[in-house]
Amino acid sequence: MNPALPFFSFECLHARDGFLHGTSPRCYHPAPGVSEAFDPLSGLSSGECGGHALVYLETLGMGPRPVHRLRQVHGDRVVVVGEGETPEGLEGDALITAQPDCAIGVLTADCVPVVLCDPATRSVGVVHAGRLGTQKAILQKTIGKMQAVFGVRPETLWVGLGPAIGPCCYEVEETCAALFKNDLSDGASFVRPHAPGKALLDLWGANRSQARAAGVPPSQTVCSEQCTVCNKDRWYSYRREGSGAGRMLTVAMWKG
Ligand SMILES: [Zn+2]
Repeated sequence: MNPALPFFSFECLHARDGFLHGTSPRCYHPAPGVSEAFDPLSGLSSGECGGHALVYLETLGMGPRPVHRLRQVHGDRVVVVGEGETPEGLEGDALITAQPDCAIGVLTADCVPVVLCDPATRSVGVVHAGRLGTQKAILQKTIGKMQAVFGVRPETLWVGLGPAIGPCCYEVEETCAALFKNDLSDGASFVRPHAPGKALLDLWGANRSQARAAGVPPSQTVCSEQCTVCNKDRWYSYRREGSGAGRMLTVAMWKG
């Protein structure tokens, strides 16, 4: 977390020349010299998918440009965005591209937003990994698709796990926890017994494990450790605020 920046980003990914990314906070304060505030929810829902999320993107250094997004459905479909293609309207929960200057994004409010950065092929991915997506191994599948389509080697890939509901707060019914344990081979490692009939899930841990299983060196998977429920001034939380909660936009792009 860089306190000088009005958005969340991973410092180790800043070091990659030409890689831009960030997660918008709930109360967006524009940078000095930028006059207009941008609300991630109203700013994005007022237009078509991929509409211009102007000021936030300017602050990230991306300038005003469309952000390609999908209709997120808590599934495991990974969509490749090619040159001149617009995936808007497609269902899916992960986007990958090797096109320079092509911004891709996911919206979250407790689910894990994941940023994938491969400096070797200058390809990028963003993933919406909630409980169901994590259970379907969407991160591992996204890494697999980046290997198959762009020739990414996991050894050069960086994985950033963004602000999400933490293992401190993510209480679920035992029945949900049982499915999680059943569907993921190491799911039991990320379920902790809690109150009677309840368990705590660790989505960051489960996704970290998927990155490792896909061959990404553990030192190249970084976690925000920002719990959306604990940090109520900074993040939206579906669990805390209900269906009216706003959404954070996590966006990433390689500059051409
Ligand atoms: Zn918490």
